[in-house]
Amino acid sequence: MKVLKFGGTSVATAASIQQVQNIIAQTKAKKLVVVVSALGGVTDMLLKAAKTAADQEIEYKDVLKDIEKRHLNIIKELLPINAQSKVLSKVKSELNVLETLLEGAYYIGEITPKLSDKIVSFGELLSAYIISEYFIEVGHKATFKDSRELLITDNTHGKAIVDFEESGNRCSHYFSKVPAHIVVMPGFIAATRDGNVTTLGRGGSDYTASIVAAAIDAEELQIWTDVSGMYTANPKIVKQAKAIPHISYEEAMELSHFGAKVLYPPTIQPVLAKGLPIAIKNTFDPEAPGTIITRKAPEEGRTVRGITNIPAITLLSIEGPGMIGIPGISKRFFEVLSQAEISVVLITQASSEHSICIGIADEYAEKAISQVNKAFAYEMAMKKIKPLLIEKELAIIALVGDQMKNHQGLSGRMFSTLGKNNVNIRAIAQGASERNISAVIRKEDVKKALNTLHEAFFEEQTKQLNLFILGVGNVGSKLLGQLKQQKKYLKEHLRLNVRVIGIANSRTMYFDEQGIPLQKWPELLTQGTKTDATQFYNTILELNARNSILVDNTASEEVAFTYKNFLKQSIAVVTCNKIACSSGYEHYRLLKELAKEFEAPFLFETNVGAGLPIIDTLKHLIASGDEIIKIKAVLSGSLNYVFNNFNETTTFHDVVKKAQEEGYTEPDPKIDLSGIDVMRKILILARESGNVMDLEEIVNRSFLPEEALQTKDNKAFFAALKKFENHFQQMVIDAKKEACKLKFVATLDNGKASVGLEHIPEGHDFYSLAGSDNIVLFYTKRYPEQPLIIKGAGAGADVTASGIFADIIRIGTY
Ligand code: ADP
Ligand code: ASP
Ligand code: MG
Repeated sequence: MKVLKFGGTSVATAASIQQVQNIIAQTKAKKLVVVVSALGGVTDMLLKAAKTAADQEIEYKDVLKDIEKRHLNIIKELLPINAQSKVLSKVKSELNVLETLLEGAYYIGEITPKLSDKIVSFGELLSAYIISEYFIEVGHKATFKDSRELLITDNTHGKAIVDFEESGNRCSHYFSKVPAHIVVMPGFIAATRDGNVTTLGRGGSDYTASIVAAAIDAEELQIWTDVSGMYTANPKIVKQAKAIPHISYEEAMELSHFGAKVLYPPTIQPVLAKGLPIAIKNTFDPEAPGTIITRKAPEEGRTVRGITNIPAITLLSIEGPGMIGIPGISKRFFEVLSQAEISVVLITQASSEHSICIGIADEYAEKAISQVNKAFAYEMAMKKIKPLLIEKELAIIALVGDQMKNHQGLSGRMFSTLGKNNVNIRAIAQGASERNISAVIRKEDVKKALNTLHEAFFEEQTKQLNLFILGVGNVGSKLLGQLKQQKKYLKEHLRLNVRVIGIANSRTMYFDEQGIPLQKWPELLTQGTKTDATQFYNTILELNARNSILVDNTASEEVAFTYKNFLKQSIAVVTCNKIACSSGYEHYRLLKELAKEFEAPFLFETNVGAGLPIIDTLKHLIASGDEIIKIKAVLSGSLNYVFNNFNETTTFHDVVKKAQEEGYTEPDPKIDLSGIDVMRKILILARESGNVMDLEEIVNRSFLPEEALQTKDNKAFFAALKKFENHFQQMVIDAKKEACKLKFVATLDNGKASVGLEHIPEGHDFYSLAGSDNIVLFYTKRYPEQPLIIKGAGAGADVTASGIFADIIRIGTY
């Protein structure tokens, strides 16, 4: 015989109960045990009604009405009219009893655990009765059997202890006599020997099914639920989680103990001794293979089998000089808790014996605190033990696997992965079985921690990057276009899953935790909320996504000075905005230090030469022990464009105008023409080469007349360019006389930097530099005579966007 259990999620609606019937029909078995839970959510409703009544709030009647409606509606949807009346009247009469019980609680203003069990038992009793009647109606030979007649427990209400011998006898006796029927039984509920109803603990229907399966030597126990098995992590939190095909009893037990709700932890025990396999299957996808649980499971090359979490944990720490070397303190500590019936989920003790720290469920926190304080009142008054340290709103995450004990480095990998994502660890424990490593973290970090650990242990090759993009002008919109185009490639070839979660321009900002559909970003952004820097930052923190990256495509000073806040939260920063790195040296150094301390990459390759790999090359030269002697470079695509196009046949004014119109200059072209932009770039290269330098220390031999330099806006600036046309023409004539070309050159020599217009003779590396190209010559210890040269397009939105893109990928593949 097989035992099939259908959970609340499988019997929540009429449609899902029909689906359950399909599954039953397909087994083609004549004899079958079907254990069912209450209709999904009904147990919670019953408990709420009980509590409301005990609090003497009349609203308990509303909850009761809802409970009634749920059941009556389902009967009406499942059964044809002529079959309804019998079932409706039976259910209504049961609900009347329930009403009387609740009324009692309301008038007394109290609810005992015994009464609570009685009230809550209606959930399973009603669902099992309705489902059995429905089975009969569609033509099965079915029988309803009240579990209270078969499962016998002690009187620990709420979570009763099963009398296996008595229950086993009753089950085998009953099932040996039962005809070829489908026996439908309520899960979760049982009774004491003298007939009082008890329950087996929340989620206990799994346990009912397992007790029955073991008692009757069933060939298999199937747990049908709303997911396709036991997953590598809770699939509702970790999208990439996968069903584990085969798992051992111990691993399944450990996973469920540590929060994998899909299986109630005690379920394994009854079937374990008999070696009876458990299959976990999905009611809504019956074809999916699901998970099979047996004594031994194949290794499949993985050491970690799953990752779980227990929400709502409180840590209690007891410490003080009085604890050192004095035996018995920890014994008393645990005794107090056990007498108060508080189960300890996790224990850590430092070897100094100076402190013990335990984790318990939040709901027991108050009780534990008052009991422990009472028990140690004397020691606390004598200051031998410090007042109890309490931290609430925490959670436990755990890695589980039978093979973990044979492998080194797992905890190292676990904690460094969490550290990189700024997940603070409050306590650590390793199970004595070495089958699990657990850590206590903040409740808010659970989602991020589970996802990032899942990525590290199960998706070695895929990594998700979560981008927050500021600025969607020329560069930003090109970047979004490139991201959209490359999405598939990145996933397939680099195993990077790049998602844009937030976009903002100066007007609006828009977020979508699941990733903004990139074909629709412009319209979505207009539907966003008003941009607010603090709000933008706070939203990123709230979303608390793993591998978060801030991408700054603006030229805003305000934005540049917020990077430090992001880095401190371990959020990487990628920027084409030069302001941060060319601001005061202290600020630049601070950002570099924060990046190191919080393991948050800070990348700004596009600050010099757009997408050309200049800073990256410099970094590698230095990291591999080379030293920079001299840098000579043409670093302004804008100025190169201007001087390549300016000659006797054109005017300087028109050429600059054209450069501006074609997007080769900053919005304010004076920043380029004055040489400021090139100063910033050589400053960044100087700093990256190891020099402590500020902008004021750079010599600027500007070719602009003083009057043009002093202009206040674009209009005045262009007017000045017109006015000084002769001056500009003279520069061309002078260069021509020497058969030279004009190039605006940046130099770093022996720690001194300068920028200015130079005459470049034919044959020089700079002579034939075309269009808006950049070129950098690195003279180093390893390249003393023939420099290392990097050359190529150094301006334009496309290449800048691709440089940012490259930085993002660097983070993903690092
Ligand atoms: P049922 O009503 O069928 O008993 P439960 O809600 O008790 O269903 O258990 C199923 C749920 O367990 C899933 O919907 C899922 O959210 C949760 N769950 C938590 N951890 C895991 C895991 N590791 N694998 C599968 N499900 C999990
Ligand atoms: N209905 C009970 C609960 O919600 C038992 C179960 O579903 O397993 O806890
Ligand atoms: Mg369950």
